[in-house]
Amino acid sequence: MRRDLLTVVVAAYNEAEALPVLQRRLAAVLDALEADAVDGRVLYVDDGSRDDTWQVMRALAAADGRVSLLRLSRNFGKEAALTAGLDLVENGAALILDADGQDPPELIPQFVARWREGYDDVHGTRLQREGEGWFKRASAHAFYRVMQRLSRTPIPVDTGDFRLLSPRALAALRQLRERHRFMKGLFGWVGYERVSVPYRREPRLAGDSKFSFWRLWNFALEGITSFSTAPLRLATYVGLGTAMLAFAYAAWVVFKAVFLGDPVAGWPTMMAVILFLGGVQLIALGMIGEYLGRLYEESKQRPLYLVDSWLPATGVCSGRA
Ligand code: UDP
Ligand code: MG
Repeated sequence: MRRDLLTVVVAAYNEAEALPVLQRRLAAVLDALEADAVDGRVLYVDDGSRDDTWQVMRALAAADGRVSLLRLSRNFGKEAALTAGLDLVENGAALILDADGQDPPELIPQFVARWREGYDDVHGTRLQREGEGWFKRASAHAFYRVMQRLSRTPIPVDTGDFRLLSPRALAALRQLRERHRFMKGLFGWVGYERVSVPYRREPRLAGDSKFSFWRLWNFALEGITSFSTAPLRLATYVGLGTAMLAFAYAAWVVFKAVFLGDPVAGWPTMMAVILFLGGVQLIALGMIGEYLGRLYEESKQRPLYLVDSWLPATGVCSGRA
């Protein structure tokens, strides 16, 4: 029987407490998959953690020959850390997993089964989010729906980064080198055969979410500006609408002055019009600025991440990762 290679890529930022628990669960799953002709590997990416994460990872790698480690030179953010990890997976499929246990590793066999049925992108879709406040759930819910309306790239709703990518989907993803990496959108852009696996998102094993409200807000902006130019078009339409209203009002003012003999314009009306126009212009400028800023960042062509250390798996290893 053909043996398949699967590398589980885990980005971790300050996850010293959660990692040992995750590794135990993951190892059990990979042991079971062994019998199913799947060679499992694990690649932990330390995204510039400031706690003991790297030491913990070293210990895990020493104890399990299937584990390889990558450490970035600083905290580059989850998306860059995942990119770094996926770049190192040279053979076989890759599966992305959160370090905090919110994506249950026990589901991996289901993902593998779907992959073997021929799907290239098997993604976990959250049925429920446990241990997260109503605000986070509501805003996440709204975000996915807005994204879906704004963007032409298909982005499945309520789907995070928990997913398995076939070798060809992985190769395709690797060609997308943009700096502003809205991963959900990039996965969607790649296309191929996709299928979703519903699951219940569990509470974190330990620690707190690394994504504050502000970070999530920026993440949402990132998603919208990376995968849609709808805001620019909106600015055009708002401008057109405003201009039409302004022309109509100007005609009325002229008409009043010429035919009704009323030369004095009211100060309140003037203020209202000036402030309104000023506001609309600033908003439109801001939108353009969002895109311009991103263009500037892309044009610098810096690498997406820098590697501090790379420790390949020691054990029964056939590929690099
Ligand atoms: N993460 C990372 N770099 C960061 C922030 C987060 O690698 O700068 C990792 C984190 O360790 C975890 C995953 O990304 O494995 C998801 O983060 P978190 O659980 O904080 O996000 P949430 O589940 O709340 O969306
Ligand atoms: Mg989490």
